[in-house]
Amino acid sequence: MDLQLKDKVYIVTGGSKGIGEAISRHIVAEGGKLVIATRSKEATEILAAELRAAGAEVHTVIGDLQELSNCERVIKEAVAEFGRIDGIVNNAGVNDGASLEKGPAAFRASINLNLFHYYDLVHYALPYLKESKGSIVNVSSKVALTGQGQTSGYAAAKGAQLGLTREWAADLLPYSIRVNAILPAEVMTPLYRKWLDSSFDDPAAKEAEIVANIPFEKRMTTADEIAAMSVFLLSPKSGHTTGQFMIVDGGYVHLDRSLT
Ligand code: NAP
Repeated sequence: MDLQLKDKVYIVTGGSKGIGEAISRHIVAEGGKLVIATRSKEATEILAAELRAAGAEVHTVIGDLQELSNCERVIKEAVAEFGRIDGIVNNAGVNDGASLEKGPAAFRASINLNLFHYYDLVHYALPYLKESKGSIVNVSSKVALTGQGQTSGYAAAKGAQLGLTREWAADLLPYSIRVNAILPAEVMTPLYRKWLDSSFDDPAAKEAEIVANIPFEKRMTTADEIAAMSVFLLSPKSGHTTGQFMIVDGGYVHLDRSLT
């Protein structure tokens, strides 16, 4: 299937590690032009060099998206470099364990880390998305639906991303801009590795316990499987799909517990 991304321009936040890296690779494989917006300088330089060497057009913007000026810069540079914006994948985020015990300052910091830039980028990109009838993909989390424990800030931000997905899908109907969310559950990435290693005395045992509870094939979802859904949602081939929450998780959230 031709996803018709060729020569179109897509911004991926956190686009050089984990799920974001896989989405970046899929966009380029489909012929799209890529803007990676992230604070991970080294990983981005390595990935951009590899993709450019293979013929892709890649622009990178290094900076913390918690800074409003960096969000504005991402959009300005994307347009200066490529002249248009066809889609945004809001993906950068950190499960930072801002629990009830950690208090109001940690909670506010977690919302800042995980939520505001989703809004800010779309705000600044709006004129260009209206021109292109673009597509927005918000990477949320199953935590928005299930909770996790010890992570109030992240859970609140991920839930708010679902609220914004529906709100923007409604708001942007007049411009034929589609807005959808993807909810991963268990995907091995640098973030996930860090969470396992820092949260449990025996990370290997915890990992085995989690994997045993994933109904489909008793394995984690791959970043490529999240990326495949992402490029489909960016593509005109999903032209009548908007306001949806895509739960790409091997049945982890919804299937009968007795199956595992
Ligand atoms: P990851 O491996 O840590 O990659 C995320 C990238 O985004 C990193 O390069 C990170 O930089 C960057 N980033 C984070 N906050 C940023 C900010 N404020 N400004 C600029 N860059 C920032 O994470 P991942 O596991 O791929 O997660 C990607 C998304 O999927 C997140 O929204 C996460 O909540 C969601 N998700 C993941 C899972 C999973 O199982 N992995 C499950 C559910 C939802 P640093 O390395 O410096 O932090």
